[in-house]
Amino acid sequence: MWSRLCHHPSRPHLPVPIGLTKSSHDGLKGTQIQNGSNISQLMSATEPSKIVPGRQCGSCTLCCKVLGISELGKPAGIWCSHCAPAKGCNIYEMRPAECRSFLYSWLTTPQLGPEWKPDRSKIVLTQPHEGNGTITIRCDPGFPDAWRRAPYYQEIMRWCEAAHSQNRMVVVCVGKKFTLITKEGEFPLGEVEKDDKIVRHFSGRGLVAARVVKASRIDPDQP
Ligand code: SF4
Ligand code: SF4
Repeated sequence: MWSRLCHHPSRPHLPVPIGLTKSSHDGLKGTQIQNGSNISQLMSATEPSKIVPGRQCGSCTLCCKVLGISELGKPAGIWCSHCAPAKGCNIYEMRPAECRSFLYSWLTTPQLGPEWKPDRSKIVLTQPHEGNGTITIRCDPGFPDAWRRAPYYQEIMRWCEAAHSQNRMVVVCVGKKFTLITKEGEFPLGEVEKDDKIVRHFSGRGLVAARVVKASRIDPDQP
């Protein structure tokens, strides 16, 4: 018997977006982005614990596909074995803590309109993680270019402009593959695991390269 994912407005239930909770493996922890203020309405207006009145998952279950759940050993980009797509979670009462603590942007950010609902946009947006201010745009692997469509692309480019001025980042994720999106262009990062660090290289004020430093190679004494 399945249970609908988000039928209780005061109780976010969602699977952890890899990397946007302490137990996840987004790989964005430890980036150079720290303590910024507003990047856009998306980030400044979000209160993760508050669902916007009137919003609910309905028949959407996309986060159960695009997000990785470490407690289940579920990789990002494939359906959770407990998910009844378009219906809900078969183990709702026993779902992992990660699924209960997921911080999710569309449900909690009034400035994101109905077009951003994931079953329509094919995009799951996740919130800044641990203060690093990164927006992660997670596309349904069945629609890897969802973010390039209007009106999403135009809005994402506005976020990139804001991110640039605030030393923050905008990252697209399809399955396990990440790409840094900037006003200078796109920088494929490959797989980014928990605690990996994204390092950016600038020439003047322009970004010219980006690379991932694996967590095992990060010197904890370096800033
Ligand atoms: S992606 Fe968002 S709207 Fe869809 S099921 Fe998950 S939390 Fe609900
Ligand atoms: S256990 Fe699976 S189906 Fe249930 S909420 Fe978590 S990811 Fe979704």
